[in-house]
Amino acid sequence: MIEKTLVLIKPDGVQRGLVGEITQRFEKAGLKIAAMKMVWVDKKFAKKHYAEHVDKKFYSGLESLITMGPVVAMVLEGVEAISLVRKMAGSTDPKSAPPGTIRGDYAHISYDYADKKGIGIKNLIHASANEKDAEKEIKLWFGKEEIHSYSSVHDVHILK
Ligand code: UDP
Ligand code: MG
Repeated sequence: MIEKTLVLIKPDGVQRGLVGEITQRFEKAGLKIAAMKMVWVDKKFAKKHYAEHVDKKFYSGLESLITMGPVVAMVLEGVEAISLVRKMAGSTDPKSAPPGTIRGDYAHISYDYADKKGIGIKNLIHASANEKDAEKEIKLWFGKEEIHSYSSVHDVHILK
């Protein structure tokens, strides 16, 4: 039940100075940061991360977005962390993401707007969608030696 999930604060989040705010939300929820680093990915790496989307119409906009600056990549750990983090992120288009979610609180553009402009949806974060993706994405972004196992103050509340 304790899961690890991959989160990226995308270049729009980094450039808007939201790394602290976004990371703090996860910390306040009691999730453990198991790994963290800043990476500026190239197009080749972007295609690996977004392999499922490479042939889609929106891919060129997405590729420009994810390569336009560095991202902050992290592995978060906690009880059912994969679905929890997706809930905290909110739906893909910020216009539909409810207030209280990261995308709903800090962004606002819609599918319609992004499609008409031919740009990627700037929605601040990526979060693994399911167990299979989480495992694959964590392996792609982090070496084993970069992922840390340590005690946090939250463990006491999770384990007892
Ligand atoms: N995206 C886009 N236009 C679309 C759908 C997706 O620009 O019509 C971008 C958006 O940044 C999204 C990413 O591609 O976060 C990956 O899409 P996915 O459907 O996997 O959404 P997510 O899992 O990030 O919510
Ligand atoms: Mg996805």
